This record gives sequence, structure tokens and C-alpha cells, in this order.
Amino acid sequence: MIEAKLIDELNEIVGDDNVFTSPEELLCYSYDSTVLQHLPEIVVLPRTAREVAGVVKLAIRGKLPIVPRGAGTNLAGGTIPIQGGIVISITRMTDILEIDTVNMVAVVQPGVVTGKLQAEVAKQGLYYPPDPASLKVTTIAGNVGMNAGGPHALKYGVTSDYVMGLEVVLPSGELIRTGGKAIKNVTGYNLTQLFVGSEGTLGVITEITLRLIPQPESSGSVLAAFADLDDAATLVNRILQAGVTPAVIEIMDQMTVQTVDDYLQSGLPRDAAALLLIQVDGVQAAVDQELEVVSQLCRENRATMVEVATTPDEEEVLWKARQSISPSLTRVRPNKLGEDISVPREAIPQVVNRIQEISRVRDLPIVIFGHISDGNLHPNILFDQADPEEMERVEAASSDIFEVATSVGGTLSGEHGIGLLKQKYLQLDLPEATVEVMRTIKRALDPDNIMNPGKVFPED
Ligand SMILES: Cc1cc2nc3c(=O)[nH]c(=O)nc-3n(C[C@H](O)[C@H](O)[C@H](O)COP(=O)(O)OP(=O)(O)OC[C@H]3O[C@@H](n4cnc5c(N)ncnc54)[C@H](O)[C@@H]3O)c2cc1C
Repeated sequence: MIEAKLIDELNEIVGDDNVFTSPEELLCYSYDSTVLQHLPEIVVLPRTAREVAGVVKLAIRGKLPIVPRGAGTNLAGGTIPIQGGIVISITRMTDILEIDTVNMVAVVQPGVVTGKLQAEVAKQGLYYPPDPASLKVTTIAGNVGMNAGGPHALKYGVTSDYVMGLEVVLPSGELIRTGGKAIKNVTGYNLTQLFVGSEGTLGVITEITLRLIPQPESSGSVLAAFADLDDAATLVNRILQAGVTPAVIEIMDQMTVQTVDDYLQSGLPRDAAALLLIQVDGVQAAVDQELEVVSQLCRENRATMVEVATTPDEEEVLWKARQSISPSLTRVRPNKLGEDISVPREAIPQVVNRIQEISRVRDLPIVIFGHISDGNLHPNILFDQADPEEMERVEAASSDIFEVATSVGGTLSGEHGIGLLKQKYLQLDLPEATVEVMRTIKRALDPDNIMNPGKVFPED
């Protein structure tokens, strides 16, 4: 039961307009992009790090859980206030504090939208590469919290490769700074990276210093269809061995191609076992040469169709299929569970075949697409949440998929995180001693377990 005094104190810290307690308002913060839901008791929207620290100190006094929340697009149940408490929404902390073109660094408040940052730095000829498909709405802190990745990971890396420094309000209410603008920095433990991917369990991030790189001059894309999945998979290594590191290589399996084609009616090759979308970027002369090499290698690897796009408009047409996957899936079944296993590249054909088998055995449509160049696959299980018997099969299919991924040396999550959804499978992936080190870090920073409790590992 929340005391009126606490609400008054929160009002004083962040202003009355930025404290929500009505059922309608709380409902909006009770879910994320999973099917899970739980109501918080209070939602606050601070504007500064000082306000965040003030809220955390009140939470410590009342031993209330805190859930840091960005745009709430995570796919792991990471922002579900499973134990009630206070949701700290960072969506008013949206200032880009600095774009330093000399050091190629941006300093931002946590609620800056990823796509907005990309657009702003592009105006200065700079590039912030991490590109989750949700970037038009996600926040930088949410990306840091989950260590978000995207299609450009093979060539450009993921969020952790760009985080140089942080300001964090610890579960004690104390404000600390880590890292900074220096490119090389080995003074002490790398606390910056400790917070990256910590899913809001170690503190509330209030400022982020990000590395930027020069904007690539040009790009071009190739769309290739394959009758045999192995031909698509082995092509990736042939391209890399030829000295070309594509910016992106995406795969769509047959069920994904057919689902997207039903939606777009764009004449995709429905009988293909796999479609690959390959993008190269850099200076124009290199792009031209690399497009030539890639399309030639596609043909040598028995592609049944090869299309090349050299202008932004042509590229947009080729990429439409990839961008239409999410909307097309909702036409098949009302709900989807998007897994994001990551496996060694050479295991991809075996893993895809085994997931297609799981789809048959569990009698559930499972479409498979993802970032084949870094082994990060997104098997999406399609289902109807209203059917309890189907939900049991969804759970079983998820478990089967994790077994397959870990049996080939892969991992439960390449970019979406563990949150609530995957914690019960943690032991498939991590030795108990490793989990215990993580728990020790959590206990050291958060002895009262108030910061996003119940996430990542099961409660003791
Ligand atoms: C359609 C769709 C496509 C997607 N595509 C991708 C993709 O390509 N790649 C990918 O990686 N993900 C993808 N996602 C998942 C999701 O967008 C990412 O996990 C993203 O990083 C979440 O950002 P957010 O702002 O929504 O954060 P939230 O969902 O609000 O939070 C994510 C985590 O970060 C923590 N957090 C938030 N703010 C703070 C803070 N200030 N301090 C400390 N912790 C904090 C939260 O507690 C939570 O654990 C997709 C999701 C959707 C719905």
C-alpha cells in the first residue's frame, strides 16, 4: 500500500504532472512487447539525474522495487513491474547534450530515441551504427540496458561497441560516472561494460557517452534466392573469405518468404528454401567492386535468382520484404513469440532444419529469419494466446529451440536479453558458478534487491 506522504514527496521531486497513480495510467506501464503484464504502483517521469537519485532514495526508504523503463519495446519482459513498485520512465530525459565532431562522440540523456540520434549525427557526416529494427521508437538507455544489436552487427558491432561512458544512479541512490571520451581507457575495472546489458538490474542510467564513426559514402544491395539452405549458408563464408565484409547479410526461410509474399503480393520466389539480402557500404568504388564480387559468388553458389540494387530507391524496394516481416506475421496468428538465439555460423543449416522439425512436431507455425552473418536467428513462434492448450505447445517449442541452440554451442539470446522470459533456461547456457558471480555482483550493488527485481535470474 503506497502512503500518501510518498506520493507528496515524489510530486515534490518531479512535479505533480509527472507522477502517475490512476489505474488507466498504470495500465500503460504494465506491459512491454511480450504478452506479459503486471501493474506498477506508481510511475514517475523524472527530467534530470538528480531527480532520478531523489526517487531512488525514496524507494530505498520504502523498500519499493524500481523498474527503469525506456520505450518498453523489449522482447524479454524486462520492464514488467512483476513485483509492483515504481516505474521510472526516462521518456522526458531526451536531450542530445553534445555532438563532438572532433572526437566523434555524442553525449546523450538516456531517453533519446535511437533513430533521432542517428539522424542528428548524420547531419554532421557521422554515423551511429547500432540499428535495432525498433530504432524509430527505442531509447538509447533501453538499447544499453539490453545491449541491442541489429543487422549491421557483423561489420559494425552492437551497442556495447559504442558505449564509452555512463552516468548511473546506483540502487543506493549514489550517482557515479564511468569511462569518458578517451578512446583507450584501462583505468580500473570496466564498469561501463558491466552496466551494458544489465537489463536495469544494477542502476538507472542517466547519461551515455557514445562513439561515432564517419558516415559511409554509399551502399548497394543484392537479393538472392536459393533452392538449398546449405548454399545460402556457405555463401556467407565465401563472401568473407573473398575479402568482403558486408554491412548486412539477412536470411529469410521459406515460411517467412511465403508469409511476406502473402502480405506484400510482390512476387517473391515462394519456392526458395532461403532468401539472402546482402548490403555492402563504403566509398563508391569499393561498393561497385564488392557488389560485383557478391553477385558473382551468389551465382557460383547456385542462387536461383540474383537482383542488384545500386541506388537508394532500388535498395528500398529490395529491403521492403525484410521490413515487412513483422506486420505480415500478425496476419497469420494473433500473437508471436520472437526468440533470438545466436549460434556459430556453420551450425545455421542444422539449426534451421531442426527448428522446422520442431514446428512440425509442436504443430505451430515458426518462421525463421535473422542476421545470418553473425549467427543471430529469430525463430518466431506464431500462436493464439487465448488458447491455453496452444500456449503449452508454445512453451514446449521455446524450450526445444533453446535446447537446439545450446547443443550446438550457441546461446539463448543474441540481442533481446533474458528478462523474465528466458531466466528459467539460464542453466542450459551458463554454468552455475558463472551465474553465482553475476548474483554476487547484483547483491554487492543492490543488497535490498530493489532494482528491477525478478529479472535475469530466478529469485533465490
Ligand atoms: C518490432 C520490434 C523489433 C525489434 N528489433 C530489435 C532488433 O533488431 N534488435 C534488438 O536488439 N532488439 C530489437 N527489439 C527489442 C527492443 O526494441 C530492444 O530490446 C530495445 O533495446 C529496447 O529499448 P527500449 O527503449 O524500448 O527499452 P525498454 O524496453 O523500456 O527497456 C529495456 C531494458 O533496459 C532497461 N532500461 C531502460 N532504461 C534504462 C535506464 N535508464 N537505466 C537502466 N536500465 C534501463 C529496462 O529496465 C529493460 O530491462 C525489437 C522490438 C520490437 C517490438
